[in-house]
Amino acid sequence: MIIVLKPKVSKHEIQDLVEKVESYGLTAHVSQGTETTIIGMIGDVTKVDPKQLEVSPVVDHVMRVSEPYKLANRAFHPEDSIIDVAGVKVGGDHLALIAGPCSVESKEQVIMIAKAAKAAGANMLRGGAFKPRTSPYAFQGMGTTGLDILLAAKEETGLPIVSELMSAEYIEEFNEKVDLVQIGARNMQNFDLLKEVGKRCTKPILLKRGLSATYEEWIMSAEYIMASGNPNVILCERGVRTYETYTRNTLDLQAIPVIKRLTHLPIIIDPSHAGGKWWLVEPMAKAAVAAGCDGLMIEVHNDPEHALCDGPQSLKPEKYTELLKQVGEIAHIVGKEIK
Ligand code: PEP
Ligand code: MN
Repeated sequence: MIIVLKPKVSKHEIQDLVEKVESYGLTAHVSQGTETTIIGMIGDVTKVDPKQLEVSPVVDHVMRVSEPYKLANRAFHPEDSIIDVAGVKVGGDHLALIAGPCSVESKEQVIMIAKAAKAAGANMLRGGAFKPRTSPYAFQGMGTTGLDILLAAKEETGLPIVSELMSAEYIEEFNEKVDLVQIGARNMQNFDLLKEVGKRCTKPILLKRGLSATYEEWIMSAEYIMASGNPNVILCERGVRTYETYTRNTLDLQAIPVIKRLTHLPIIIDPSHAGGKWWLVEPMAKAAVAAGCDGLMIEVHNDPEHALCDGPQSLKPEKYTELLKQVGEIAHIVGKEIK
């Protein structure tokens, strides 16, 4: 249930209402926008009579929210959330451009790719240090050494770091070394991990959509993180599993308008894991920006033929540079800025 307040309500009047909500044994979540202030009521609202709240002269109206997610719900927070990743804004009219190799392989490799990605216009560097691989015999990532290599690349380029966390054991290390913490598709419903990153992660979270997750399941996973204390969640569509086997997954571009309608969270697109083929990345990335996404996360590798992971879907730096030129033009048309 949400309480929509009249314009120009004082802090004191908001506090009085918060106390009233708390007196029902509920949690009040205040969202102060430029136009309206909304108080979300979280908990069992079945016994709350909306009319009793509507008698207050500062209340415009009270609405029941039927969706099971509250904190992520657009109704609780009508304005777009803009998430700050070490100074790079994601959401609203900002376009995040995240690039880098699937896995960190060596210091030289990451620094070379980071410099090329930055020169092309990327504003964040990604690299996997802990890799969720389907086969236990495949390269599992460099772990802590990989994170240190990413930090060295950050020192060289100034690009904030995005990397995947697979176990709560490493949260403190990620808080120190990583700027945006990725929760991968396979862990989207690892609820214990979601609760721990909500509680202990001091950095924003990039939550990838599960291989066959519905929108509601995906948003509920964001809700887990938010309800546990971390409100800074960015969603990432990376393709879903369908009957098609020609492509690795099927990119669901409808996710962009749907997520924007249902939530206030930014949504970025990963066309690399969606198609699984490098030549699908350019058309899908352009389509995603045209459809209004808040960012792109693209795998870039200097030598895809010899990459330890996901070479076939990685762009060479030259191709990435060409792509960003076109992305910049499309972004301009849809009112997004790259900073
Ligand atoms: C990745 O980003 O490298 C990755 C493993 O992605 P996903 O979780 O989407 O498969
Ligand atoms: Mn990958």
